[in-house]
Amino acid sequence: MNKKIWLSSPHMEGSELELVKDAFESNWIAPLGPHVDGFEQELANYTGTRHAAALSAGTAALHLALILSGVQPGDEVICQSFTFSASANPIVYVGATPVFIDSERDTWNMDPTLLETAIKERLAKGKKIGAIIPVHLYGMPAKMEEIMAIAKKYEIPVIEDAAEALGSKLHGKACGSFGNFGVLSFNGNKIITTSGGGALLGNDGELISKARFLASQARDAAPHYQHSQIGYNYRMSNIVAAIGRGQMTVIDARVAERRKNFEYYYKELSGLPGISFQEAPEGYFSNRWLTTILVDPAEAGGLTRETIRLALEKENIESRPLWKPMHLQPVFANHPAYVNGVGEELFDKGLCLPSGSNLSEADLAKVVSVIKSNTA
Ligand SMILES: *Cc1c(COP(=O)(O)O)cnc(C)c1O
Repeated sequence: MNKKIWLSSPHMEGSELELVKDAFESNWIAPLGPHVDGFEQELANYTGTRHAAALSAGTAALHLALILSGVQPGDEVICQSFTFSASANPIVYVGATPVFIDSERDTWNMDPTLLETAIKERLAKGKKIGAIIPVHLYGMPAKMEEIMAIAKKYEIPVIEDAAEALGSKLHGKACGSFGNFGVLSFNGNKIITTSGGGALLGNDGELISKARFLASQARDAAPHYQHSQIGYNYRMSNIVAAIGRGQMTVIDARVAERRKNFEYYYKELSGLPGISFQEAPEGYFSNRWLTTILVDPAEAGGLTRETIRLALEKENIESRPLWKPMHLQPVFANHPAYVNGVGEELFDKGLCLPSGSNLSEADLAKVVSVIKSNTA
């Protein structure tokens, strides 16, 4: 069997191990410590936000952001439909109802026009909208300027799911820094990883302090254990934060490497009939976390993304269909959804190609040759 080519595998830099060793030697083996503080500072600096709270996962960050936005049971929360389920699940954790919004074609993210239609209709039905969750899918910035303007008009907080978009920018401003809150993930497949972990970004220092408080069991200031509200165990460990600090030393290189993968695939494949790419509009800088292609069977002589996926799998190459929209997921059947068909079409035609920053040129060439051998 050929060596496996992964979709997006961890890429350690080398200094992580020394930082972890430092955590051991100083005996900060706990969900707090100097690496947690340092990592938070580095994330805030890098994204141009005032504060960051390091947490156990991106999902935990989304959950806390909903609580801190004041979302109440029975509220509705508007969420991008074309995304990973972790964007939507925390809405249910707080007893609110997700309302799904389809994507526009330019960035594949939340359609601002549909967003405003939905807000007007939900409000007319007497619903309270607790928050809006746009996502920067595959690293491509969503139309945040338009989304923020609408959110401001209706005074609804925005929780920006930037789990896939560390290093992405819109008109020079970092993804994760537009909303009232920004969410990052350091899961094993993300552009930098701590094995698992996440962060909550924000400019309101009181709210980010409150996030740290809720994430450490909501313990009141008292010598004994005293609690006035429900807490969570969502803090990041000092060991995990040490890995994150090592990864942050190479974040710009990781972005450059992923963007280079995109350039390579684009150069090799964009001329093939029926194959197209997620192009970046002017001013949109994607970290190209994953390179994705669309395969249009009508133009590709009947070739489908599934044929390509299976051909790659046979060569021990991992690829994956694009996210299946939330409004098509059995678990969210019968939830309100504002749909224009874009997410469904992307799911039907789209494939994520191997995109790790640790892929060699030979790996990329292998992927390309398998795809080319299947096209007309
Ligand atoms: C990875 C991811 C998350 C969740 O992050 P975890 O750290 O795995 O909990 C949320 N949203 C999107 C879009 C993601 O890709």
